[in-house]
Amino acid sequence: MNVIIMGPPGAGKGTQAEIICEELDLAHVSSGDLLRGEVKAKSKLGLEAEGYMKAGELVPDRLMINMILNKVKGLKSEGRGFLLDGFPRNVEQAKALDASFQEESIEVSSLIALVVDSEEIVARLTSRRVCGTCNKIFNIREDSKPGCDKCDGEAPLVKRKDDEEDVIRQRLKVYSESTEPILGYYREKHELLEIDGSQEKDTITALILKALKSE
Ligand code: AMP
Repeated sequence: MNVIIMGPPGAGKGTQAEIICEELDLAHVSSGDLLRGEVKAKSKLGLEAEGYMKAGELVPDRLMINMILNKVKGLKSEGRGFLLDGFPRNVEQAKALDASFQEESIEVSSLIALVVDSEEIVARLTSRRVCGTCNKIFNIREDSKPGCDKCDGEAPLVKRKDDEEDVIRQRLKVYSESTEPILGYYREKHELLEIDGSQEKDTITALILKALKSE
């Protein structure tokens, strides 16, 4: 099974992706996590991507498309299903993905879009923290943990540099200008499951799992 999850930053894609991948034994392919790994490793790609990420801009397609397609092709050759989170982010990426899937005979089983109001997103992201070790997501409005439970409470929770309010608003602008048009592109080509992302986390998980299990 291969799934694509979409939605604005802070819609809950990463949180849901983590649960769904564990439940259905899928590989979680998060373009943001892959990029943050490259930045941390100070690779050539990471050094080039960092400035765009800090400013809330999209990293250029020439860097993104190969990185993701190589990852997806590797998973296909291992016979693993995957969940793509954060890619595609614009129509060019969506078209490149479609072309590669066609070439590699990879089927998209489901496309999920989480829909959340912008002001709710700003509130969520300014209070979001992530584990510096495993990337697990926390929210200080709901969790009062000093460290990551997945890493035995040892790893500190940190605020992402792009979770400052001015950068969040820029990321939302980029989402509505570049990423939202993909929904129209996909509605024409595939069945798109749109879910109200302001619902309880468990309710959203149940809706996604029900849809995926009926595939
Ligand atoms: P995310 O963790 O998905 O919110 O991504 C964090 C940042 O990484 C974004 O604000 C972009 O700068 C960059 N990024 C992630 N995925 C992509 C993508 N598919 N295309 C371009 N830039 C991306």
